[in-house]
Amino acid sequence: MKFGTYTFLPEKAEGFDFHLYRVKPEVGRRMPPQPDMYSNIAIFGDNVTARNHPDWISQSPLGPAWRTNNNYNVRWDVLCATQPEHRAEQLDYIEDVARKSQGVWLNSIHFAEHGHCICPRCKELHAKSGLSWYEWRRKEITDYMTLVSERVRDRAKKKFVIGVLPDPVTSYERFGINFDDLAPLTDEFLVVMFSKNYATPWYFETLTRNFKKIFKDVPLNISLYVFGPGDNPKEVPTSNELMTVSARMARAGVDNILYLAEKASQITDFQKAAVANVGLQETLRNYGGRPVQEYLDFVKGWEKVVK
Ligand SMILES: [Zn+2]
Repeated sequence: MKFGTYTFLPEKAEGFDFHLYRVKPEVGRRMPPQPDMYSNIAIFGDNVTARNHPDWISQSPLGPAWRTNNNYNVRWDVLCATQPEHRAEQLDYIEDVARKSQGVWLNSIHFAEHGHCICPRCKELHAKSGLSWYEWRRKEITDYMTLVSERVRDRAKKKFVIGVLPDPVTSYERFGINFDDLAPLTDEFLVVMFSKNYATPWYFETLTRNFKKIFKDVPLNISLYVFGPGDNPKEVPTSNELMTVSARMARAGVDNILYLAEKASQITDFQKAAVANVGLQETLRNYGGRPVQEYLDFVKGWEKVVK
């Protein structure tokens, strides 16, 4: 086992085996690669390019992949994964960075999220392919990664690592990623586990999607601990966390949600807090289509029972 650092500045903390430097993070800023560090490049998450070419943004039935679109998990602006000029420019850029550093570790190699991309070019490419929607997206990502891999491994003769999001089961439906396709193209995989400030909702939503796929037509119930027996009151989830996670599980297709506590009064306390939190209810209205609205309408219904 080896241990590395992963930094936004070209600085190497002592006591590690290797160093990965964010040469081009999703904000789109580009920094000079370092000869004695690996380089991390985000391809389609790219705020700078999105600002310069707003028509390249990825499109979906729930709106474009601007980082302000709360229907999705995007924390940056995400470009259409088939945009030919961006693809070509990034190929050259990645090869150049590979030559000037220890190798390239990629992020944001995929479609923005489920439902992306439905721009006119993608619609046309899909129609021409004769493939299903999911298989067409898979082919787009695999074919492009084949080109990138060739640039880094065969031409620049450097190490190549593909980064993926922490979703082992539904990355195909969400992002167009098939791990078996990518395995022969990469030297190693990197799974980016997110920072605490949005890790929890991400994992709840992803596990919901994963179980929905595995259980197929059998309805999925999920229970959330509101207050377990003997729980430290400081460690139980806040009403904000419970509501946010519930909304995100709703948009991921959960059929029923149970709130678990030792006593009914602990659940009533949660209901009171949820009803009082009008600001969060408004925010969550932007978090998805009909299932999220259904959840929020249900919470609103508690006004009558807890007053
Ligand atoms: Zn597109």
